Amino acid sequence: ADFGFRRVPVEEKQRLVDDVFHSVARRYDLMNDLMSAGLHRAWKDALVNAINPPKNDRNFRLLDVAGGTGDIAFRVIESGGAGTHATILDINGGMLEVGRERAEKRGLDHAITFVEANAEKLPLPDRTFDAYSIAFGIRNVPRIEAALREAYRVLRPGGHFLCLEFSSVDLPLLDKIYDLYSFNAIPAIGRVVTGDAESYRYLVESIRKFPQPEVFASMMREAGFGRASYTKMTGGIVALHSGWRL
Ligand code: SAM
Repeated sequence: ADFGFRRVPVEEKQRLVDDVFHSVARRYDLMNDLMSAGLHRAWKDALVNAINPPKNDRNFRLLDVAGGTGDIAFRVIESGGAGTHATILDINGGMLEVGRERAEKRGLDHAITFVEANAEKLPLPDRTFDAYSIAFGIRNVPRIEAALREAYRVLRPGGHFLCLEFSSVDLPLLDKIYDLYSFNAIPAIGRVVTGDAESYRYLVESIRKFPQPEVFASMMREAGFGRASYTKMTGGIVALHSGWRL
C-alpha cells in the first residue's frame, strides 16, 4: 500500500501504525539500534535521568505510555530503588508480548505491570502516577490533545510529564544529511530487516508532521501542565519535553 504522502484519516492512521509495530515487534530493538546508529540509547538515558526515580525504597510509580518492548521502564527500574514500579502501556499486544519476555529474562517482571490500551483513553484511575513518560510514541497517537489530557488526569499533583520525540533539525548541514538519511536510509533498512519499506516511509512522514517543540509546549499548557519546557538534543533530531501537574 502506498500511504506515504497522502492525507490519512484519523482511524486509518492508528491502523497503519498498528500494522507497522505488529510486523516489527520481534525485530524492534534491533531496528532502533540500526536506524538511530545507537543514538536512541543516549536519548533514552536523558529521559531516564529526567524521570529521576528515587534511589531509596520510597514508592515511585511510573506510567510509560507507548512503552512497546519496555526499554524505558527497564532502565527506570534498574536505576531506581526497591520502591520503583512501572506500568508499561501500549496499544499493541505484539510489542507488549516481547516486553513481557524481556522483563522475565532480566528478572524485572515483579516490578512491572503491562496494560494493553490506547494513550487517548487510559483505563487507569485519576491522580495515580508520580511520572508519566512517552518515548517516540506520541507522534503515532492520532489525537495528541486527548493523550495529553489523559496524562494530566492520571498524574498525581506534583507529578512529572516527560515526552521524548523527534523534532526539527536546525543545524544547516545536519538538516540536509538528516533528510537524505530519513527518506532513503530508513525505508531501505526497513526493507532489509522487515521486508516493508512503505511503513517506514510513513513513520518518517509522521516525524515531519509532528508539531514544532514550541507548539507542543503550548499544547501541554493547554492540557493543564505547568512549567512546560523542552531541551533539544543532537542538533534538534530529538527534543525532551517536560511539564508538571502542579
Ligand atoms: N517507547 C518505546 C521505545 O522508545 O523504544 C517504543 C516506541 S515505538 C516507536 C512506538 C510505540 O507506540 C509502539 O509500540 C506502538 O504500538 C505504540 N502506539 C502507537 N499508537 C498508540 C496509542 N494510540 N496508544 C498507545 N500506544 C501506541
